[in-house]
Amino acid sequence: MAIIVQKYGGSSVADAEKIKNVACRLMRAQEQGNQVVAVVSAMGKTTDSLISLANEVSTRPNRREMDSLLSTGEIVTATLLTMALRSAKHKAISLTGAQAGITTDSSHSKAKITGINPERIIEEINRGRIVIVAGFQGITEEMDVTTLGRGGSDTSAVALAISLNADKCETYTDVEGVYTADPRIVPAARKIEEIGYEDMLELASVGAKVMHSRAVELGWVYNMPILVASSFNDNPGTLIHGGVPMEIRNKVSGIAHDLNIAKITVVGVPDKPGIASTIFEELADKGVSVDSIVQNASVNRITDLTFTLARGDVQNAMKALEPVIKSVGAKECVSDVTLGKVSIIGAGMQSGPGYASRMFKALSDKGINIELISTSEIRITCIIDGDKVPEAVQALHDVFELEAE
Ligand code: ASP
Ligand code: MG
Repeated sequence: MAIIVQKYGGSSVADAEKIKNVACRLMRAQEQGNQVVAVVSAMGKTTDSLISLANEVSTRPNRREMDSLLSTGEIVTATLLTMALRSAKHKAISLTGAQAGITTDSSHSKAKITGINPERIIEEINRGRIVIVAGFQGITEEMDVTTLGRGGSDTSAVALAISLNADKCETYTDVEGVYTADPRIVPAARKIEEIGYEDMLELASVGAKVMHSRAVELGWVYNMPILVASSFNDNPGTLIHGGVPMEIRNKVSGIAHDLNIAKITVVGVPDKPGIASTIFEELADKGVSVDSIVQNASVNRITDLTFTLARGDVQNAMKALEPVIKSVGAKECVSDVTLGKVSIIGAGMQSGPGYASRMFKALSDKGINIELISTSEIRITCIIDGDKVPEAVQALHDVFELEAE
């Protein structure tokens, strides 16, 4: 009998009806002769509500307590889903992350899985039970509950699929798969049938929100195929895997975008060793995570240093930079919180010339100014005016002919 791991996201279990729908899907999977393990997220926006509640009772909620609090969201779903299965006369049991044997390090709110002992799960599926695991959580050696970071249930699911030796990890959500661009912006965006881990990882890390990037990373390292499909119908989704044929790899696979971008420029920085490290150490200390960094060539040993970050981090960053500017002898610090980014992604870009020039031309044809450019081997990203992002995504989708198969 094959072991199947299915993960259901928050929107797929948002109310009692939807939970019953998932129960039906799990029963069907079992009736088809599989041993079934499901990983669930918290219902709808539960995690957000729990965070707001914590912020109402405390200005700085303790991180250990926060993790225990947030872990309850997925436990609620797991228990309700189990009850639904049992009342439909199916054998089922819910397990918390800890009971499922998921151990993590102790970095609360962004813990990393250190190991999985699947014994209990295996024991339960061998008794004919459908096992429902609360996603997004684990337990430390000291028996403290941790969470894996927002969207972390994907990672729980892929890790479990690996430890249970499943053929693939199926993740079900409210979209039908991975698209060549956000269909809300590009109505003609196409659902991608299959995509390599590399491309998916870039898509996930630059704005395509369908899958947690750590889950893709994990799938890549252990070569665990991941299916992304809808929980509301049976249409085929997108398979993320390592065996994507060359002709599919050999072009742009998708356009990603992100509207939550700001930039900060430190103006008039002396060009000498140690300055960048001082600036970014200070930001790291204050928990500000920085995205692209650009330093201009210096004129008269004075340069400007620009970096991008999430809009919500700007205030924090500007405050952290105040003393640093003085100490390193820079002139001032300016911020812009109205930006967005667009990226083209495709493993084939490594070998083909001309992708960058086509991208820049498409943007200039629309009169869109590029503020900053950053690249990886398989991605080109432009930072532009946030208001222009939808137009840019549409233009790039057209230029790289993503609509046609
Ligand atoms: N409930 C958690 C979140 O909203 C984890 C997840 O949904 O994957 O981030
Ligand atoms: Mg979620």
